[in-house]
Amino acid sequence: MRTMKAVVFKGTNRIAVEEVPRPTPGIGEAVIKITTTTICGTDVHIVRGEYPVAPGLILGHEPVGIIDQLGAGLEGLYRTGQRVIVGAITPCGQCFYCLNGVHSQCGGGIGGWRFGNTINGAWAEYLLVPDARANLAPIPTGLADEDVVLCPDIFSTGLSGAESGNIRVGDAVAVFAQGPIGLCATAGAKLKGASLIIGIDSNSRRLDMARRLGANVTINLNDEDPVVQIKRLTDGRGVDVAIEALGRQETFENALRSIRPGGTLSSLGVYSGKLIAPYEAFYAGLGDQKIVTTLCPGGKERMRRLMAMVEHRRVDLGPLVTHRFALDDIEEAFDVFSHQRDGVLKVALYPDSAHPATTRDAVGMSAGDDQC
Ligand SMILES: [Zn+2]
Ligand SMILES: [Zn+2]
Repeated sequence: MRTMKAVVFKGTNRIAVEEVPRPTPGIGEAVIKITTTTICGTDVHIVRGEYPVAPGLILGHEPVGIIDQLGAGLEGLYRTGQRVIVGAITPCGQCFYCLNGVHSQCGGGIGGWRFGNTINGAWAEYLLVPDARANLAPIPTGLADEDVVLCPDIFSTGLSGAESGNIRVGDAVAVFAQGPIGLCATAGAKLKGASLIIGIDSNSRRLDMARRLGANVTINLNDEDPVVQIKRLTDGRGVDVAIEALGRQETFENALRSIRPGGTLSSLGVYSGKLIAPYEAFYAGLGDQKIVTTLCPGGKERMRRLMAMVEHRRVDLGPLVTHRFALDDIEEAFDVFSHQRDGVLKVALYPDSAHPATTRDAVGMSAGDDQC
């Protein structure tokens, strides 16, 4: 039996690099050799035991790779050796939900999210891709792995916050939290034509990055009350759209307080427990507000569109990849990412430990503040 290296979830706060069986593709499936992947905030929730997955599962849902094997039924559509990405969400394209246009809910609630959730994920040398015909997205010539590694999840999710918020040209938009997803939501607000984009966070470096990606104004939570400032910036009305990109009661509430009557709260955060909408911010339920939630859109057509935006330089996500590690060093990478050490935004992980980007000299930003 052929084996491969993979990062396996062993239980709360335990992950390990292990040799496991290499997958082989069935009908309509493909196996890709992972060349680059990354860590997501959702992986942190999983490892900390805040989002349950089965012990023994290979984690990770952001794959960039090369087609290694194609199962039956894909003849003439793809070829081995082709460079591809696969969305974090892998819709089947056939079921009730897919055919009703809610691909991320494929098969039922949150069902489109399979990698590192219900099936083995991308923190491995090889990855089995289900419904390959709907999900393998060829990488445009000229783009490097790191140019597209944020497309499977972070860029797709962040942008979807702006899309689901139905931002119109000239809208005022506030984006609560400027982690990687919030930063991509900020970039998305700009792409959708917002005039005033307000980025909110407590980390001044992240606010600097928010300005780089499209925010005209930033609010540091350590210095200012965001709701007061947002009202001041919008003639007392509030923004047309607020995007919540953290998943906490406080940010949800602030986002709700920040929108004008008839405005939209577009929520991207992953919440735990109960959410409360305060009476006055909710206008007793009579404010004509819209609250929308979105799970990362996936599928090959979504990936094609996102990579086209990168290819044609409508967005530059390069600065978000701040650190690089070999997959073997996942524990160190996870520590840096999960504690936001060293100015980290996203880490690139390379299963090939000889990859030049994983040598010490190539590691990104220098030491900085520890947000732990
Ligand atoms: Zn994710
Ligand atoms: Zn489906």
